[in-house]
Amino acid sequence: MSDFKINTKCVQAGYRPGNGEPRQVPIIQSTTFKYNSSEDMGKLFDLEATGYFYTRLQNPTNDFVAAKIADMEGGCAAMLTSSGQAANFFALFNICECGSHIVSSSSIYGGTFNLIAVTMKKMGIDVTFVSPDATEEEIEAAFKENTRACFGETIANPALTVFDIEKWAKIAHKHGVPLIVDNTFPTPVNCRPIEWGADIVTHSTTKYMDGHGAAVGGCIVDSGKFDWMAHKDKFPGLCEPDDSYHGITYAEKFGKEGAFITKCTAQLMRDFGSIQSPQNAYLLNLGLESLHVRMARHVENAQAMAEFLEADPRVKSVSYSGLKSSKYYELAQKYLPKGGCGVVSFELKGGRKAASQFMAALKLIAIETHVADARSCCLNPATSTHRQLTDDQLVAAGIPAGLIRLSCGIEDKEDLIADVKQALDSIKE
Ligand SMILES: *Cc1c(COP(=O)(O)O)cnc(C)c1O
Repeated sequence: MSDFKINTKCVQAGYRPGNGEPRQVPIIQSTTFKYNSSEDMGKLFDLEATGYFYTRLQNPTNDFVAAKIADMEGGCAAMLTSSGQAANFFALFNICECGSHIVSSSSIYGGTFNLIAVTMKKMGIDVTFVSPDATEEEIEAAFKENTRACFGETIANPALTVFDIEKWAKIAHKHGVPLIVDNTFPTPVNCRPIEWGADIVTHSTTKYMDGHGAAVGGCIVDSGKFDWMAHKDKFPGLCEPDDSYHGITYAEKFGKEGAFITKCTAQLMRDFGSIQSPQNAYLLNLGLESLHVRMARHVENAQAMAEFLEADPRVKSVSYSGLKSSKYYELAQKYLPKGGCGVVSFELKGGRKAASQFMAALKLIAIETHVADARSCCLNPATSTHRQLTDDQLVAAGIPAGLIRLSCGIEDKEDLIADVKQALDSIKE
């Protein structure tokens, strides 16, 4: 459906039923698939024929939903994973191995930071973190002989920095490596990183794509544009025969458009098995069908909330790239013309005490660690996720005690603002 607009793709891309087939994506709740002969099945194992044999590697329901997300992102192939963490790990580990190096934006989701800085380090994969706002020279200086991938988040969770995709893609390509962009917060409704030069796009579908707090999941989309064979020496896993798969050379057999996702499925899903359940893929698809409608409302509500907060004397500062005062306003106009996401963060002048009083007074907006849900939710890191840190340590980490992260849902913005206003009114000196 590549000629259709994003709103149409959200609703109809992926599963296209034939005559007399179910209108809704069927849930193929089966671990295994039947074949008439060993030869038929053998062809699947040799990657000579396409089809299904075991749901640890592939399932038709998942593939319908992955195809929808690929189409929405303007990619050529995609796969679903059990979580966003699995998606980012697979995307990186598909091209990195012991001895490789990654250049990553320093402003990324905490779980991904830990994955790269701690867990992948134990696998012998090194990383250099660079500020997303660094100059081209500073970013270039981070690249090494063994760099194999470059990574960033379109809008970082929770810092809300906006990533200059075009600039980073240009630098990554100059050094012969792909740019991987985690596009969880804007979703392809608000930004399609591949149009700006990204090679691989990842998602925590747990957030806006699902949108209802129903199912944890992830997705990897390949643009099909990166020429692995042109950088053969850097990517032996794609460009040399795979002994664990009958000596197949993925980049030769499946070309630029098929190599990345085929290898990721055939090797990493086979060995790590972080597949999304078909049930969850079905729920994800329900979320995707209304994603374009919901994103517009999330953005409308967050913009109104950010403007309200900015004008309130009890608020010290507000981070939202849709505000003219934002350091990222210009970049957001370029990459996120329809708006970014529903998450706003702000700091209260009264610090920790004011934040506690504010949180306690909320009536409609719930206290949760989750974000990007249809229902508004709110978090004060100092008294929850980061409660082991002192006020000084919090400032050093860029998370002052009075900081609040507010994920605006799709309720009526007047009700949300009224709840925030009465909570601000409850703050006592
Ligand atoms: C939540 C999140 C992840 C991790 O996803 P899970 O589905 O929780 O595993 C990765 N990246 C970003 C930007 C996220 O917000």
